Amino acid sequence: MNQIQLHKKGFYNLPKLPYKYSDLEPFISKKQLQLHYEKHHKTYVKSANSILENLDKARIEDTEIDVKCKLKALSFNVAGHVLHSLFWENLTPDRKLGKIPNGTIGHYLIKEFGSFERFKKEFTQTALSVEGSGWATLAYCKQTSRPIIMQIEKHNMYVYPMFRILLVLDVWEHAYYLDYKNERGKYINAFWNNINWGIIDKRIEEILA
Ligand code: MN
Repeated sequence: MNQIQLHKKGFYNLPKLPYKYSDLEPFISKKQLQLHYEKHHKTYVKSANSILENLDKARIEDTEIDVKCKLKALSFNVAGHVLHSLFWENLTPDRKLGKIPNGTIGHYLIKEFGSFERFKKEFTQTALSVEGSGWATLAYCKQTSRPIIMQIEKHNMYVYPMFRILLVLDVWEHAYYLDYKNERGKYINAFWNNINWGIIDKRIEEILA
């Protein structure tokens, strides 16, 4: 008898945005944000859940699955969902030009990079140089107590396992093409004005607690 209890199984949910579609203008237009959230992020959630359902079904019926293919797609879609959820949260409509973080994150950035400007330069270069689709991210390594910049391709390649993510910037063309066309650099420059440093600080404090 099969012991799988479907009613107890969890699935992924699309999180609510913490602001309105037009709130991040002029960094991200209403149309661009709506498309990104409703079409792209939503698709990752739906696809991840559909793969989980396929796996459940195969296990219940005890049928064969193409494990390699399913797990590759699951990793891509789950990572896409996780990164987008972090991304929406680390943006804010509270636009403060030239704002530099203080608090715990400010301290760690200066300790590691020498100055906020140096961190900003390296993170910007990371975002600019992603080949194809991917992300610039700032993560934290507990073993060395260092913040570390990760360049992620697609949603899941070159990720450091267990390194908690503090800050992410989506540089897939779907994130900026309506507003900036092929000018990724302009999109990255505008990003610095809409970062929610309060959330980044909360994330690092949770890791250190
Ligand atoms: Mn995206």
